Order: sequence, then structure tokens, then C-alpha cells
Amino acid sequence: MTSYTYYVIDRDGMNRPRKVHVKSFGCQMNVYDSHRMADTLAPDGYVETAHPAEADLVILNTCHIREKAVDKVYSEIGRIREMKDAAEAEGRRMVIAVAGCVAQAEGQEIIRRTDSVDLVVGSQNYHRLPGLVARARDGEKIVDTEFPLEDKFDALAQPSPQAIAKRGVSSFVTVQEGCDKFCTFCVVPYTRGAEVSRPVVKIVADVERLAASGVREISLIGQNVNAYHGLGPDGAPQTLGQLLRRLSDVPGIARLRYMTSHPRDMLNGMCDDLIAAHGDLPALMPYVHLPVQSGSDRILAAMNRKHTRKEYLEAIARLRAARPDLAFTSDFIVGFPGETEEDFRGTLALAEEVNFAMAYTFMYSTRPGTPAAALEDQVPETEKSERLQRLQAVITRQWRAFNASFVGQTMDILVEKPGKLAGQLVGRSPYLQSVHLMAQPALIGSIVKVAITDVGTNTLFGALAETTRAPALATVGA
Ligand code: SF4
Repeated sequence: MTSYTYYVIDRDGMNRPRKVHVKSFGCQMNVYDSHRMADTLAPDGYVETAHPAEADLVILNTCHIREKAVDKVYSEIGRIREMKDAAEAEGRRMVIAVAGCVAQAEGQEIIRRTDSVDLVVGSQNYHRLPGLVARARDGEKIVDTEFPLEDKFDALAQPSPQAIAKRGVSSFVTVQEGCDKFCTFCVVPYTRGAEVSRPVVKIVADVERLAASGVREISLIGQNVNAYHGLGPDGAPQTLGQLLRRLSDVPGIARLRYMTSHPRDMLNGMCDDLIAAHGDLPALMPYVHLPVQSGSDRILAAMNRKHTRKEYLEAIARLRAARPDLAFTSDFIVGFPGETEEDFRGTLALAEEVNFAMAYTFMYSTRPGTPAAALEDQVPETEKSERLQRLQAVITRQWRAFNASFVGQTMDILVEKPGKLAGQLVGRSPYLQSVHLMAQPALIGSIVKVAITDVGTNTLFGALAETTRAPALATVGA
């Protein structure tokens, strides 16, 4: 394929390549989408820059899941607007685009509230970016938040081997998007649309391409990743367990992960194979993110989670039976409307029973347009805050004990990149802990045995115990 590089001609007549800065907020799906947006703009000559002030195109890839998400986006637009004004004073045009879930939810309102934004693009339309950006550069104000009929994934450009290598030895691959669950606190079903699973062959091709450029670890991502039901080569739907088994055969791929799972799907039969895969596949890392949100059946029902506390614990027990060294992380919301002290104690008791390696804890906050936003029995902020602190105390104790339990043990570490100190490397444990060690940079991309000697707040420290060389990998650009 021929690619053309387009140049911007400044007011002073200088030619230079176009630069794009993509700022990602929120979850791994947005990080993945940001990469794919940059890949899709690359054939138009856009090169990525870490500095928004020098960019010709700034894309804010937004997230709607946290409190005051919309306010944060507008304040970020205000900051970028100053850079846009400065660029225009120098005779350089800067296009500002808002993408992601806030773009999908707010649409035209963004352009109405701030005239500095040129383009609002929904999460299903990133493959249209080159055309949309070209029109925005010509001065058009554009909002494209329709759910298109064409498959975004088919139309998005693939990353170059150089772009893959620059992003490191671990990569996300989206296998499923959207959600049909309609938890009463969540905007995702409205911003990302219905559940769609990508076909197996396309995912395998993506993973083979990544592996050929040095990627060793793949995290399969989706809003409800364990509801995956993409079509296999024979046209029949396959489960996430089947997909993981297929990907474990891709040469060069040493580690597989998946997130985020829904407890309800873990127990409805479609995940029997996934649970078994934890016992069968050494490449499948023993670390599962399984959000529970609450330990009270009354609140789980009000959240429309469609599983009970007992069923959640059953899912944990079945996974642990398949692989006893599995560790779990979770998400919790405290202070959901109507949550009593007794409901909250159920949450604390569940956390104690599971003994999590880590968890994300949040105070409930309303999302406009969701059913829970209309509930009257809101919990006072002071109570929410007090409950959050009590839950965080439990989770922090568990997380510290989990990390400390590895001191004196030897772990397999995937070496990812140089550290901040001379001679230092940074890698990841099977439990996603960051591990610092002193070793040769040639080990980047290898899985090595590291004796863990100490633990910091978020980091393990260790020394090389024995090197397991990575299988030979294709060189970039070969
Ligand atoms: Fe949101 Fe619930 Fe769907 Fe997760 S399962 S994306 S919380 S609606």
C-alpha cells in the first residue's frame, strides 16, 4: 500500500509533518482506542506528539464513568484552548476534537458550550477520523455520534511494526464492545451501545501481528469480556475460553489476560470453559478482575446486577478451584441510593471473605440519564465518605499483605522497559505488580526469574535469579 505524508504549510512558508496529541482518560478501552486513532491518522502523515502545544490536532478521548467527568472535560478544553489561541497567533491552525464516552453522551452540546472544539466524534466512528479531521481543518464544525452500520474494527488502520514496538511488550486487544446489562448506575450501555463481539479470525490476526513485532503479553479487553461470543472460523460462536486457548498457540505470546468480567456471566454456563482454561493454560495469568460493587443482595438488586452475593462467592470459589493461586481484584460502589449501614457491613464482610489483591473503591455519584440518578433515597455525602474510608482500610490492608507475601519468593517477571535509575529495568509479575531489578536492557521482552527482596508502596524489588530466554521473535520491519 502506498502511503503519503501530508505537510502543513505555516504562515512563514515552512513545511512540516502534522502532529497529533491524543490524551486518554479512563479505562484500558480508551487507551486502546487512542492507539487505534493515532494508527488511523498515520497514513495522513500525522505523527504522535506528547506535547499538545505543538500539535495540529488534539484529541481528548474522554471517559464518563467518574464523577464530574463532563466538568473535567470542559476544564481540559479550556486549557487546550489557550494553546490553540497561541498557535493561531503564530499562524498555525490547531483542531480540537473530543472523542469517547463524553462525546457520545453530550454530542452537539459540546460545540454549543465551547466554540474552540471543532469535532465531536463518538466511540463507534473513529475509523472516519481522517475525513472528519480534514473537514474540521477546513473550518467545518462536526458532530458524528451516530452508531454506524459498518464495522469500525474493519475500517481502522493497523499499527505499523514501529508503532507496535514503541508501545512496548504488552498490548491491549479489544475483543468485545458495548453492554446489554443496564446496571442502574452506569452510562456504558448508552455510550457504547449493545454488546458486539469480534470474530475469532480477526482477533487472531491482530495478535499474530503484535507478536511478530515483539509483543509478549496480550490483555483482551471488553466492557463485558466474559460475555464474548464472536464467530469462529466455522461460523459458530466461540466463548472467551475457546478464544484464549486459540491465542495461547500464537508463537511469541507468553502471557494472556482478560478484563472486565461480569459475575453473572461467570456462572451461566458460557464461562465453564474459561474457568477450566485457568487450570489448563500456563499462559493465562492468575489474576482476575471481577467487579462486585456491593455485598448486599438488596443493593445488588437495586443496581440491576442480576446476581446475588452467594453467586458472586460461588464464581470466586469455582475459579479458585480451577487455579488455587488465582488472585482477585474488584470494583466497589459505596453509598448507592438506599444503602443502609447493614448493607454496607455486608460489603465489608464480602471483602473480608474474598481477600482481594486490590480493588477500586468509589462513592456513588449520579450519572445523568441513568435510572439510579432518579432515585430519591440518596445517601448523605458524609456517610458515603465515612463508608469509603472504612472499605479502603480493609482493601489497603489486604493489598499490602498480598504484596508482602511475595518477599522471599521467586516470580516470573516479564521485563518491559528501562527504569528511572541507571542499570534498572522494570517488569510485571503475573499479578501485574511492577517489579524493579538491576539487569541488562537486552532482557527487555524476556520472562526472567526474579527473587523478590523487598516491597514498596506500589512496587516489588528483586534480583535476577535465573534467566529464561524468550523464544526467538521476528525483528521489527522484517
Ligand atoms: Fe456498566 Fe453494568 Fe455494563 Fe459494566 S455490566 S458496563 S457496570 S452496565
